[in-house]
Amino acid sequence: MVKQLESYESKALGLIKSNGGVMYQSELWKKLELDSREGSRLVQRLLKKGLIRREKVLVNGRKTFKLYIVESNSRDPVLHVNIESILGIPCTVCPYIDQCELGGFYEPMTCILLDSWIDKMLASKEKRIY
Ligand code: SF4
Repeated sequence: MVKQLESYESKALGLIKSNGGVMYQSELWKKLELDSREGSRLVQRLLKKGLIRREKVLVNGRKTFKLYIVESNSRDPVLHVNIESILGIPCTVCPYIDQCELGGFYEPMTCILLDSWIDKMLASKEKRIY
């Protein structure tokens, strides 16, 4: 029978928290009576949501993971934002930004600086793909 892992998420977080915010992965699975496949999937779900982090450790010569609660000031899911793609955009330092608009003297559709930055970004993206 496939267990509904969603219902196990809060139980898992509660168990880790009550254990001081850290717990071995296998210990968690055992307490939740999950097999390794279900336990793995549960941990992946919690990792993806940013609710826990894990660290590879050796215990008695065997590799396992320690799970840690990720503390958050908010109850909202953690949102990971990557601004790398917009760093260097010329508009952030452009002296004409207040006058730049569609149909205006300065406009994004005809801006050489913006055009050149986009070309550079596309070229670097192609390099990463190939
Ligand atoms: S599009 Fe060009 S002119 Fe407009 S704000 Fe950006 S850099 Fe400046």
